[in-house]
Amino acid sequence: MSETFEEIATGLAAVARGFHGRGWLLGTSGNLSAVVQREPLQIAMSPSGVDKGELRPEQLLSIDENAHIVGQQGGKPSDESLLHIRIVKARGAGAVLHTHSIWNTILSDFYAADGGIKIEGYEMLKGLQGVTTHEHAEWLPIVENSQDMPALAETIGETLNKHKAAHGFLLRRHGLYSWGENLAQAKRHIEILEFLLETIGRTLHIRAQKI
Ligand SMILES: [Zn+2]
Repeated sequence: MSETFEEIATGLAAVARGFHGRGWLLGTSGNLSAVVQREPLQIAMSPSGVDKGELRPEQLLSIDENAHIVGQQGGKPSDESLLHIRIVKARGAGAVLHTHSIWNTILSDFYAADGGIKIEGYEMLKGLQGVTTHEHAEWLPIVENSQDMPALAETIGETLNKHKAAHGFLLRRHGLYSWGENLAQAKRHIEILEFLLETIGRTLHIRAQKI
């Protein structure tokens, strides 16, 4: 049996608190969503402007495919709801998570001129769905940031279409998006990608100091 909205909202709030504790969702940044039903599309979405360390399940909002609130709830869905909807449609994702960590912010700028980051040779890559060897090369595309959400959603749709094997992408000087078939898989993908980005960032730092 599929989960109820309340069960999904409880799961999202728990992930938000966990990510906040790791410094990935500070100052009300970042957002989380999970699909409640596909036809018509209904998504549980985190509200705008709420401290993710204190997010309560009853604060999650139910939105439709146009990011409009379904039902009589108060609150405002995240500004980035259109991006979540686009990812759900493009990838058939069951959950989409978006973090603003220090390392993903730094590297999204450092590698912006390359259009993405190639991550290869790490055992942790095997935490990404469908990856069975550390020899896998993951391409994490970087998209220029924008406040024009409909335009950014279009760009992201094109990026996902172009990089069909990608498990996530970065918005420049902004943050990381990843997703999964369900919330557990999306959470795992964020943890894996955040680990790998921090590893790459720290490695660059150590190399720069080595004489
Ligand atoms: Zn963001």
